[in-house]
Amino acid sequence: MANVPYKIYLSEDEMPKQWHNIQAVMPEVPGFLNPANGEPVPKEGLLGVFCAETIEQELNKTDEFIAIPDEIVSFYSMYRPSPVVRAYCLEKALGTPAKLYYKFEGNNTSGSHKLNSAAAQAYYAKKQGLTGVTTETGAGQWGSALSMACAFFGLDLVVYMVKTSSEQKPYRKVLMETYGAKVIPSPSPTTDVGQKILAENPGTGGSLGCAISEALETAAKSDGYRYVLGSVLNHVVLHQSIIGLEAKLALEKYDITPDIIIGCAGGGSNLGGLISPFMADKLRGKSGTEFIAVEPASCPSLTRGRYAYDHGDTGRMTPLIKMYTLGSGFIPSPNHAGGLRYHGMSPIVSKLFHDGHISAKSYTQTDVFQAAVMFARTEGTLPAPESSHAIKCAIDEALACKATGEEKTILFGLTGTGYFDMTAYQNFNAGEMNDYVPTDADLEKGFATLPQKC
Ligand SMILES: *Cc1c(COP(=O)(O)O)cnc(C)c1O
Repeated sequence: MANVPYKIYLSEDEMPKQWHNIQAVMPEVPGFLNPANGEPVPKEGLLGVFCAETIEQELNKTDEFIAIPDEIVSFYSMYRPSPVVRAYCLEKALGTPAKLYYKFEGNNTSGSHKLNSAAAQAYYAKKQGLTGVTTETGAGQWGSALSMACAFFGLDLVVYMVKTSSEQKPYRKVLMETYGAKVIPSPSPTTDVGQKILAENPGTGGSLGCAISEALETAAKSDGYRYVLGSVLNHVVLHQSIIGLEAKLALEKYDITPDIIIGCAGGGSNLGGLISPFMADKLRGKSGTEFIAVEPASCPSLTRGRYAYDHGDTGRMTPLIKMYTLGSGFIPSPNHAGGLRYHGMSPIVSKLFHDGHISAKSYTQTDVFQAAVMFARTEGTLPAPESSHAIKCAIDEALACKATGEEKTILFGLTGTGYFDMTAYQNFNAGEMNDYVPTDADLEKGFATLPQKC
């Protein structure tokens, strides 16, 4: 067997031309319910909100592989395939016998994996004849990615950006505007729901849940517009499966099967996409790979949340989704620097976690930034704070191997670059970052906002 190089590249020709739909392999993922009567939402009920093709994908539980249209393959070819990197330098610094690999998705201007779904969703919106789309963005990566994709496919875009993030990351706004998007800090006075949230909570820094409500309302009021979401939903996990398919293909060139796969989890899209084809093997009894979701201790939907039907947004405009959730009224501490601040979790990831196929861990942000700095100083790449949750967990697993002498193979998702997170790194470097872990009483307030009926 040849030595594994630092980077395992695929050629453009080798880039997968089909996405992997884990829904076709796993036990049934519960669908949307109508909050008014608890009945399933028919497909027609979703057409006014989402793009038609993405609804088909959302509900597709039969086709394991779905063709990627040529236009999206061309777009992907501008920045994919992305490499799998062997973290030799980090392994050495840790003195671990474990073999660490990461799949790096930060090599595009938007800086994260989000472009994989942005490209697909912008393409389908344009193909459907829409004039524009609305969306929310938290830390800003999704808004940036969608701005790039909408510029490319010729669509208008309105982005509601969580207010605290827009203050912490002013250049994200400039980036989105450069690609032609209109960016509005949320909550804002431009929507009824924004006005209501501001009246109840004048000093609020906002949340993803609020921004989603505003984006939904604006899409509903604008002709030729639909709403698009950058995480959580099944079709987003489908688009992100390109990460897992490429990683699997690259590792198979060297006969490598990971013992552990680790991903950070905000809404669950990169984790779901990274593990998708590997999980299929596991569910079919073809591998014994272990899967770990990593979340911030300040927004612990898997580790401390409830598996329940909940709204996807604070304004309670979305249908009910069965997921691990902290309640749509949960607002994470404004001290929390990274993204990963959504109250819920992908229904696919939630179901796999509930069935025991994925385990979950949470870390405080100072521990996460310590891992980020170690990674930057050894591997060179400056990681996004979100991605650093996966790094922290991979380091812990590698240190556990050091203690036992096990030579486990560990793959983790390095979802993005930290170039736009200088304020957070500055706070950490100055020793001014602190950890806030919600108390049980804090969480109870969020749970009290769960719908009572379902
Ligand atoms: C958005 C984002 C995440 C979290 O989103 P998921 O849907 O859970 O993948 C993680 N890392 C980066 C860099 C992001 O931009």
